[in-house]
Amino acid sequence: MGTRVVRPGRNLGEAEVTIPVPEELETVPGIPMTQREVDWYAREYPLETINITERASRDWANSLRDQHVEMREIRKEHEKLNRPLIMASRMTAELEPTAEPTGEDISELIKTKARELGFVEVGITSFDHRYTFQSKKGSTTYYPHFVALAYEQDFEPTQTIPSVDAEIVHSSTYRTEGAAALELGNYVRSLGYHAQVMGSGDSAGPYIPLHVAAGTGQLGACGYLLTPHVGSRCRLVGLTTDANVTYDEPVDYGIHAFCQVCQVCVNRCPGRALMRDKIWWRGIEKNKLYFKRCRPVMARYLGCGICMKVLGKGTHDLEGYSLEGKGYFGPGEMPVFDAAFFAMPHGASDEYAFDQFKEQAKAAGGDVSDEMLQQLKDDIVRSLFQATDNVGMMDEDADYI
Ligand code: SF4
Repeated sequence: MGTRVVRPGRNLGEAEVTIPVPEELETVPGIPMTQREVDWYAREYPLETINITERASRDWANSLRDQHVEMREIRKEHEKLNRPLIMASRMTAELEPTAEPTGEDISELIKTKARELGFVEVGITSFDHRYTFQSKKGSTTYYPHFVALAYEQDFEPTQTIPSVDAEIVHSSTYRTEGAAALELGNYVRSLGYHAQVMGSGDSAGPYIPLHVAAGTGQLGACGYLLTPHVGSRCRLVGLTTDANVTYDEPVDYGIHAFCQVCQVCVNRCPGRALMRDKIWWRGIEKNKLYFKRCRPVMARYLGCGICMKVLGKGTHDLEGYSLEGKGYFGPGEMPVFDAAFFAMPHGASDEYAFDQFKEQAKAAGGDVSDEMLQQLKDDIVRSLFQATDNVGMMDEDADYI
């Protein structure tokens, strides 16, 4: 028994594919969720980007990565080239349509154009504000419908993860899809509707819940969207529009249950940062990431991403990876790190500054010196004026632009 999911072919013009989902892997379309809880958390504890809530470790990770000459160059190059794409995207919210709408449903036209532009998956859903970051609310005009877009990242360099080559393809894929999304926005406007494009790396919130709602994939144990054709090996973007469209439905590809059986990403993660079992979090059942175990690995090992690379079990090709300076780890082999490896700053910059101040005061037996107070003041003032959006953060790294 089981069900069969029919999806468009991998490339535009290719035959549809039928994906059999065995009965034992069937759960629910999309992801198990409790709408009341999603509502409650969105109101009481709105989502916020970790660029703000974990700013202290973001700065720490960047300073560590920048000690690697090639990684620094990749970041520098990416921010220089991606900045104009983000700025162009930000202007799209206010651009007027360039034609009169015919009134017809343009869902299929949007999807065909998106596929022509190279997107491997496209779906349409409502733009659900429950997944908008607090700092992004009111920052621009969002239209009521969301076009979910996924762009494939090249296989060969991705399989060298973690590596400089993989970091290059990672950032260039973001730029390619960012430019393609701008093109799609132009197309929607040429059909008579508004299109607000979210710049690559400049989203209004997490894309995955919107993609799951649009049926482009399901959330994997690795924390990525797993898509039918390319799994986690894609980058996400999207746009909002007021066009006349029809919504897609969430799909059960069997991933929600399959991840509990496979667990290859969980088992191969060098930081042991992925959870075996699912928990309920903000009204959604999923495998949560241990962020504090992931970021130190990403910062020290070329962006890591081993959870994207591993493809299956039992062979070196499927499971093996090398960590620069640490060695090669084949099937059944795992690196070992001590507690110091995972030590990093936590929280927002002001929280971290105050934590450090308290530690110093404790170490001094409660004797708070003028120097300590001055340091705290400097750190707090700096944190108050730190940028809270992506472009501002790029500007702070002035020599990058
Ligand atoms: S990026 Fe690396 S450390 Fe982080 S979850 Fe994936 S495999 Fe683990």
